[in-house]
Order: sequence, then C-alpha cells, then structure tokens
Amino acid sequence: MEENAQLYITDRGFKALVKGLLKERRVYGTVRKDGFPAFKEISGAEEIELIQTPTHLSAKEFLFPQREVLLKFDIKDNTHEAVVEARDQAIIGLHPCDIRAIGLMDMVFSYGAEDVNYLARRGRTILIGSDCVPDRYCFCKSLGNTEVDSGFDIFLHRLKAGFIVRTGSKAGADLIRKFAGPRRPPPGALKELEESGRKRENSFTATLEALPEALPGIYAGSDESPVWERIGGICYGCGSCNNVCPTCYCFDVKDEVRANLDEGERVRTWDGCTLDDFAKVSGGHDFRKTRAARLRHRFNRKFRYLSGRFDSLFCVGCGRCSRACLVRINIAEVTNELIRESYKK
Ligand code: SF4
Ligand code: SF4
Repeated sequence: MEENAQLYITDRGFKALVKGLLKERRVYGTVRKDGFPAFKEISGAEEIELIQTPTHLSAKEFLFPQREVLLKFDIKDNTHEAVVEARDQAIIGLHPCDIRAIGLMDMVFSYGAEDVNYLARRGRTILIGSDCVPDRYCFCKSLGNTEVDSGFDIFLHRLKAGFIVRTGSKAGADLIRKFAGPRRPPPGALKELEESGRKRENSFTATLEALPEALPGIYAGSDESPVWERIGGICYGCGSCNNVCPTCYCFDVKDEVRANLDEGERVRTWDGCTLDDFAKVSGGHDFRKTRAARLRHRFNRKFRYLSGRFDSLFCVGCGRCSRACLVRINIAEVTNELIRESYKK
C-alpha cells in the first residue's frame, strides 16, 4: 500500500482498527466529556467519537505530560537514575491544526540538546487524524493549516458511510492493512469528500487580514502599540491560554526532596509566560513585570520570535486560547488590530 494513497474503509473497519490498536497499545481518542469534545484514554472502540469541532485542551499532554519525573536521586548514596517513561500509544481524532502543532513540538524538542523524554514518547506514538469543522474561533485557514499532507500515520476523512483513508507512514499503512480491510473507494466517495472539503473551506468566519508571511514584520513593528496596555489591563494572568495551546512548551524543573531528606525526584511541570512569576529570576528581578509585557511576549512568540529559528509561525490557528480566555482576549482579533495599525504607519 502506497503512503498517502486514498483508500476506503467501512465504519466497521474503523472499529476493527481501534480494537486492534487497543490490543497493542494505550489509545487516546476524542469523546464527549460533560458535553464537550475532549481527548481521553479509551478502553473500547465504542467509546470513541470522531468529533469535528475542536477540543478545549489539545493532545499535547500525551507527548509532553503536565508533570513528569526526569530523574530520581539518592542524596545519602550520592546516586541518581534518569527516568524516561514511554510506551506504545496512539492518538485518534487529531485535526490538521493538531498534527501541524505536533510537528512544531517535534522541531522544538529536537533542537539543540535533544529532549530524550519527549522524543522517546513521540517515537512510540501513532498519530491518527480526522476531519474538522471550524467554530467561530478557528482561523487555521488564514495560516494555511486547514489540510495536512504529512505529519500523521493515518488520516481519516468522514463520509456519510465509511471513511476515505490516507496513510502517511509505513506504520500507518501496515495498521490499516492489518486491521481495517482497506479497499478502493466506492463510486461517488471521492466526490463526496471533495464537496465536504469545499463546504468546510467556506465555513470559516474568523480570518486574519494579512498573509502569514507578513505577520513577523507586523509584530516587529507593534512593540509600542496601545493594544498591549489595553489587553494587559483586563488579563487575569491565569495561564489558561498557555495550558490549552498545542504549541506552548515552556516548563519549569524543580527538585523535590522527600521528608526523609535522603531521596528525591527531579520533576518538570508546564509553565506559562502569562503567569506572574514566569520571568522572575534570582534577586527578585522580573524582566516582564506587567501583564501587558507578558501578553506581548506570548503573542510575539507565536508570530515573530520563533519564526527565525524554525522557519515557521508558532500559532496554528486552533483558536483554543481565545476559546479559553475568561476575559475574551481573542488572538485573531488582536492580531487584526495590529495589522490595521501597521497599515496606518
Ligand atoms: S496561540 Fe492560540 S490559536 Fe495559536 S496555536 Fe496556541 S492556542 Fe491555538
Ligand atoms: S487566558 Fe486570558 S486572562 Fe488568562 S492569561 Fe491568557 S489572556 Fe490572560
């Protein structure tokens, strides 16, 4: 079976694929949790629902856990042991923006000194994508992320009955062949796929008013914009936007010593640049004291600072940060304000 070839599987074939995966590995998939779409570990194929609207939290915690032990040490014996926890797993129901975000995380954690914990987990993870429909926060279309042609093992396109399947790796092709009973698409299936794609492309309401390649320059000219003071004045500094973002990867590392003062663990946890003490260093100096400065930093990380190092914007347009923000700071709207200001200069 050729990688990226378009094949067809039935609904029963999809269930058989999930069952097959469950025999081999831990499986996370999209479900309805308290009525909202969410990723969750599943134990049966019937639990999974390929939900087309975005999940509130991304799937990053399955590759980069919110809390993980990196090292165990024994002070008395003066010994330590690295901890790398990774097992075979699959994530089902990733949308194109999620797959694109994992590709960015792969670059980050491979840059310079490789992050062995992330890469060990990533190397044992099968990524299975599925189609989405945008809600009012999604602006991935403006960043060219409505479709992906790589970065996944399997991609499923929902039809009224069954799926068109693309495979993006040998591992994905082998799984489809082994479990799902692939066949040639039936008459009309590819036309149905084309029509649903067209409908989706026309259903975006949130858009950016500039091309992606113009955004680093627009942000570079916006350091003094009054926008930062305005949104900094209403921001709670809660860090929700960092937590839900599939491309926010900052973390803190602390040594936790047990009460016996003999043993301990080195633990890393997610950190967030919008939190009050994120930029505080020894001596109490804080080089981003205000919420305005912290938000300016976060937005610049997404659209400017990292583009030189990785040749890519670091926002995939998933809209999660806007969806999660209690004071309705909307990253697409803020960016459009900066774009409009840049036109006046
Ligand atoms: S910055 Fe916001 S819209 Fe962009 S990838 Fe992160 S959560 Fe999604
Ligand atoms: S979610 Fe909203 S209020 Fe909370 S830190 Fe982010 S921008 Fe500020």
